[in-house]
Amino acid sequence: MSLTLEFLGTGTSGGVPIIGCTCAVCTSADPHDSRLRSSALIRIDGKTILIDTSPDLRQQLLRAKPDRIDGVLYTHMHSDHTAGLDDLRPFNYRQEERIPTWVPANAINDLRQRFGYALEPIKGRYGVIPSLDVTVIDVVQPFEIAGVTVTPIPVMHGKLPILGYRFGNLAYITDILTLPEESWPLLDGVEVLVTTALKLTENPGHMCLPEAIAFAKEVGARQTWFSHIGHEMGKYADINPTLPDGMELAYDGLVIEA
Ligand SMILES: [Zn+2]
Ligand SMILES: [Zn+2]
Ligand SMILES: [Zn+2]
Repeated sequence: MSLTLEFLGTGTSGGVPIIGCTCAVCTSADPHDSRLRSSALIRIDGKTILIDTSPDLRQQLLRAKPDRIDGVLYTHMHSDHTAGLDDLRPFNYRQEERIPTWVPANAINDLRQRFGYALEPIKGRYGVIPSLDVTVIDVVQPFEIAGVTVTPIPVMHGKLPILGYRFGNLAYITDILTLPEESWPLLDGVEVLVTTALKLTENPGHMCLPEAIAFAKEVGARQTWFSHIGHEMGKYADINPTLPDGMELAYDGLVIEA
């Protein structure tokens, strides 16, 4: 199995730099300190799966250049993970089909309310509006996208239950504050872990760096990458060298293998 994950965006909801902020991170010249909003591209056995449609999706896909998208997985419906949905249109146009999309059960009403037009029957040609073929994930068990097995991992984003996803030995978990007891077995044998580290101090919705390091140690992956990072984390060049062996801050454009 060939499996890579490309970090399309590794920033928290406002991205880094924050508009108008003059802090050392937001004014840093280091490209590692420029972070678009959260999305990731999985390439596995010739198939391409997009996780979340960040508000920066157009810019991200112009850089990553996938030639098709075999499926979209949503973790939850917060705007920093969904607002770029319309930029799926070029794939509708080129593939001449609705894009197969998987959504957590507690997110489907929100998706319908905000992006109902993307669920409507297509009139005329593909690509005029985004067009999704939605499957609701209402049981925690593996399913297939174009022959690729995906396992949903329930996690808690503060008080909101959302989903991470596992592909082979790689787990992608964004916006986590805590992992429910019953999800621990789903991380057995994970070798590459992507998880959230928002900043250095605690936050009600997301793990901070010390919590994320403790979580990563407990999972015990060979390599852990921290993402969904805010400007309060500090500069990449200052923080990354301080992390334990096998743990690093991710950055936009990074491609990892599992
Ligand atoms: Zn988020
Ligand atoms: Zn700043
Ligand atoms: Zn969120």
